[in-house]
Amino acid sequence: MRLTRTLALAATAAAALCMGTVIPAAAAAPAPGNGDAPSYQEFAASTYRDVDGSYIVNGDEVIATQGDLRAFYEQLVGPDTHTDGLIVNTVNGADDKWSASQVGNLTYCVSTKFGTRHADVVSAMASGAALWESASSKIDFVHVSSADGNCTTRNKSVLFSVEPVQTSQYIARAFFPSSPDRQQNVLIDDSIWTSGSWTPTNIIGHELGHVLGFRHEHTRPESGTCFEDSNWRPLTPYDSSSIMHYPQCNGSSDDLSMTSADRAGVVALYGN
Ligand SMILES: [Zn+2]
Repeated sequence: MRLTRTLALAATAAAALCMGTVIPAAAAAPAPGNGDAPSYQEFAASTYRDVDGSYIVNGDEVIATQGDLRAFYEQLVGPDTHTDGLIVNTVNGADDKWSASQVGNLTYCVSTKFGTRHADVVSAMASGAALWESASSKIDFVHVSSADGNCTTRNKSVLFSVEPVQTSQYIARAFFPSSPDRQQNVLIDDSIWTSGSWTPTNIIGHELGHVLGFRHEHTRPESGTCFEDSNWRPLTPYDSSSIMHYPQCNGSSDDLSMTSADRAGVVALYGN
């Protein structure tokens, strides 16, 4: 019974966070050397476009332009250079991470457009951030509440904005340190409040993992499914229970909670 219930919960959550139009983009990634790769045009046509015209890949990661999408596609279909929980995104082989000073001052606003949910989002952001902050003293997410009334990517008084979105494509999505300024926001759909075993704290913790540079753990070959690409560097041994591992991708945890390997991984990247 427990197993059945667990799977049902995971499946329910999966339907919301890991949406069909996004996952096929990853699922379409061929094995290295496979001649059946989709053309770029096919790939672009099958990739979900967000409310602001940007592309959403790998479930909840944003790409702004067609040029960037093509670069992503070319990386996706390129040769697999890795043979091997936590992995950091890489750009041209370099870790995609914040400077020591910036990671200690990751300022954000929470849009008042969340309305009656504003206080709930403020609270969930604080508790989601605390998951990482408690693992590494180098990390500090700082809520600048004075910017909440003008909380967009154009507000230069904060590093990133947290804004509401209405979509059936995902629960929330985030960005990487290398993302251009105009993409540096966390978008949250109202379904975050009704996502079963995935609490708002853990969902936001997952998204802030991307903000810190971490990739989906399930792109590692050990998961056996949900491959995305090979532009990452391992920080820890594979962790099927990682907060960055979708449960529905052969994960071993159904609640997106943080693990000791996650804590070790963030320390490995940013320090104790
Ligand atoms: Zn994600």
